Amino acid sequence: MSAIIISGKELARTKREGMKQEVEGLTKEGIKPGLAVILIGEDPASQSYVRSKQKSCNEIGIHSELFELPSSTSQEELLTRIQDLNEADHIHGILVQLPLPEHISEDAVIEAIDPSKDVDGFHPINIGKMMIGQESFLPCTPFGIVEMIKSKEIEITGKHVVVVGRSNIVGKPVGHLLLNENATVTYCHSRTKNMKEMTRSADILIVAVGKAHFLDADAIKEGAVVIDVGVNRNSEGKLVGDVVFDRAREVASYITPVPGGVGPMTITMLLHNTIESAKRSIK
Ligand code: NAP
Repeated sequence: MSAIIISGKELARTKREGMKQEVEGLTKEGIKPGLAVILIGEDPASQSYVRSKQKSCNEIGIHSELFELPSSTSQEELLTRIQDLNEADHIHGILVQLPLPEHISEDAVIEAIDPSKDVDGFHPINIGKMMIGQESFLPCTPFGIVEMIKSKEIEITGKHVVVVGRSNIVGKPVGHLLLNENATVTYCHSRTKNMKEMTRSADILIVAVGKAHFLDADAIKEGAVVIDVGVNRNSEGKLVGDVVFDRAREVASYITPVPGGVGPMTITMLLHNTIESAKRSIK
């Protein structure tokens, strides 16, 4: 068997075409969606993520503002900046690029963002609403993963989903979103015993560990759907996932590639949330 590739790149392109038209319509009505991005310090990876988010906004007509602050910025200064953006009518989404310098509390920063502008979906209010199935901003990577699964009309109800990784931004929320879709969900993490037994029982296997080629084909059930969230550089500097793609695709029924899989969908769902926030502001 050679698995069908779920291309995040293609799905993202299709979704963004629709979003571009939606933004045009909103702009004509006088509501131009606006995203504010705050970047602290000069971490090259963060700079590249932020550039990519801005470029994506520009491509579909979302207004974007970048605030580049030095790593010496105090927590108080940052919170004041967030407060100003909470009150700015032309800004519908606020994103603070993580990680932050050590002297700034990530929790305090996330909680300072008005939940109605928290387009990253990290605020405890939005996470709580997601858990109880209420309307909220869904965290972008997990949201993108669910969209990818649904794009292939893959049945989720009653399926055994195994999520490897339990971070607050990927592992935990993706499991909850799929639980809301009536899957039976198992989480694995660094203390899990007999992990291969768990992963081999998955109908849908989501791997979000952050270790190059962490799972091989022998950890995957024949016909499983494999979603590889990991983004790692191998010894040759090449971008690879957490799964050994070439061998896993011989066992799986569907698989996401790295690059071109989950990554492009994450930014796409950020754009979606920003447009959604703009729409909610006129309700
Ligand atoms: P993270 O916060 O570092 O979490 C990693 C998780 O993997 C933790 O829950 C950890 O378990 C678990 N883990 C580590 N070693 C393990 C082992 N030997 N066996 C089982 N579980 C193990 O990472 P993250 O932020 O969730 O990101 C995960 C990966 O996804 C990274 O490669 C990241 O770059 C990528 N990512 C991609 C996107 C995208 O848009 N494509 C977005 C976000 C993240 P413990 O909790 O027990 O420590």
